[in-house]
Amino acid sequence: MNKRQFISHFFRLNLSSYLLALVFIFTVNWLQVEIPHFIQKAIDLIDDPTSAGHEQLKFYVWVVVIMAVSMIGIRILSRVYALNPGRITEAALKGDLLHKLNRLPNSYHEKFASGKLISIINNDLNGVRLFFGAGFLQLSNVVFALSLTPLWMWRISPELTLYSVIPIVFGFVVFRMGFKRMKKLHVEHQRRLQDLSAQLMNFLSGIDLIKSQKMSPWVSAEVEKMNQLLLRCRMKITRIQTFVMPVLDYANNLMKVLVLGLGGYMLLNQNLTLGEITAFLSYSVLLALPLMQLGRVATIYQRGMVGIDSVQTILNAEIPEQDLQQHADADRQKLRRATLSVRNLSYQYPNDSRPVLKDISFDIPPGKKIGVLGSIGSGKTTLVNCLNHHLDVPAGSIFLNETDITEMSRSDLRRYVKTVTQDPYLFSATVEENIRFGSGDGEVSKSQVEEVLALSQLAGDVSRFEKGDQTLVGEKGIMLSGGQKQRLSIARALLMPADLIIMDNVLSAVDYETERKILQGLFARLDTQSVLVVSHRVSALEYMDEILVLKDGQVIASGSHDELLKTSAYYRETWQLQQYEEEAAAC
Ligand code: ADP
Repeated sequence: MNKRQFISHFFRLNLSSYLLALVFIFTVNWLQVEIPHFIQKAIDLIDDPTSAGHEQLKFYVWVVVIMAVSMIGIRILSRVYALNPGRITEAALKGDLLHKLNRLPNSYHEKFASGKLISIINNDLNGVRLFFGAGFLQLSNVVFALSLTPLWMWRISPELTLYSVIPIVFGFVVFRMGFKRMKKLHVEHQRRLQDLSAQLMNFLSGIDLIKSQKMSPWVSAEVEKMNQLLLRCRMKITRIQTFVMPVLDYANNLMKVLVLGLGGYMLLNQNLTLGEITAFLSYSVLLALPLMQLGRVATIYQRGMVGIDSVQTILNAEIPEQDLQQHADADRQKLRRATLSVRNLSYQYPNDSRPVLKDISFDIPPGKKIGVLGSIGSGKTTLVNCLNHHLDVPAGSIFLNETDITEMSRSDLRRYVKTVTQDPYLFSATVEENIRFGSGDGEVSKSQVEEVLALSQLAGDVSRFEKGDQTLVGEKGIMLSGGQKQRLSIARALLMPADLIIMDNVLSAVDYETERKILQGLFARLDTQSVLVVSHRVSALEYMDEILVLKDGQVIASGSHDELLKTSAYYRETWQLQQYEEEAAAC
């Protein structure tokens, strides 16, 4: 969707509201110019001594009062119908953005700083709301006022009208120059705001490190640098808004002087009546507001355009072809209890010069428990992120039965494979809610929640919390220890187990004994499902059907624990070393 289609889509969405608003805005502006007309008639009747003239005067006064009162009601309606579309558009766009962000692959999110995203959703979308609401209202007001008022002035005196609009014409020329300059500055302003927001998010997520390493002076200087650039840009906009944009307002004041001077001269020469000059002056006062509003309309328009561009960069981002397709239910059934096959998988990060994974092949048939052992940096997490298609793996290297995973949507793949990461994310909610989030739309009983709590060896800890499983875990689970967070995320994954559960170093923060209990409980429960446990600790993998030993991105040995003790020197040495550590920890 290009920008024009985008704007017309949302105008069409709120068409009836806009049409009603236009009727009310026109009526208000019409009443606004009619009132001075009746005042003019009333003033010209003041000196009329006849009783008919007196009655007529009274009638005109009533007309003015009724018009003024009805104008209040109609103005309110015009605002309601003109401003609502802005809110409706904002809500619709927030929904669209959320939907799109949910569907875009992780590679997109990795490139798009979350602070920038927050700035777009707050600042840019605010600009879009104003464009579709207040912008429409003020522009319509300006258009009607600037076309009706001069017409009514013309009806009184074409000559005076022509002279009095001369300052306005000059004002417009200067206004246009300011408008052009502001356009560039608004683009720069929104970009700087996004950069600052991204940088702040960056610093906030590392606040512990910043405090512990006394990095505050450096952080303050970095933020101050960006802040100063933003301030300088904002000041340039403000200077134009203060000195250039009100030029039409100054022109309007000059117009009033001209009306008084020239009009007074015409009154003395009896070319105008007192009522007419009063009405003419009222019209020039009426012009003040729309001329002043023009500056605001220009700002709203420019912010809106910049906002639409930003929002569109997300809405127009491409979702990979295969993610747009969803398997039919029957096809999904065929993938139940499928075998995941890895065939000569090599993987190289786009910005890296050497492959991180080299020629890896293995199968995970239904119910098989596979372990992956490797030291830090050997490529374990990269392998996991290839298996769940988090990374863009080369075609022809990972299959689910006969289907290449690069040809199926990620959401279909995730029905089959569920990953528990080493860095578990918890939401700011209760323990129970954090577990239930794992159930999707499925109904889950309380006893199921308790069962997974017990399986993940967390039930004991939770029973010691004052509010049990209703305890709030705080933002990102700040109230829990590292090990508790990991066990909670395991409980979440177990609630609705998939055919294959991948656990990437999820037990690194629990002690050996708890680790063993969790795995034994898990295997007893998941007898028909497959599990792939990634760890740098042999103790976590001892009971696996098969263990792959990963070194520098290559599988250097594979087999059961007992087999590897005999066949792989690397495995045996790692095991012996960790046995000492375990014994030392137990003492
Ligand atoms: P492990 O999980 O075994 O500790 P990783 O898979 O995290 O190992 O990392 C393996 C190698 O890949 C490391 O050399 C690491 O620097 C590199 N690596 C990991 N993530 C990226 C990335 N996003 N971009 C480039 N290189 C990466």
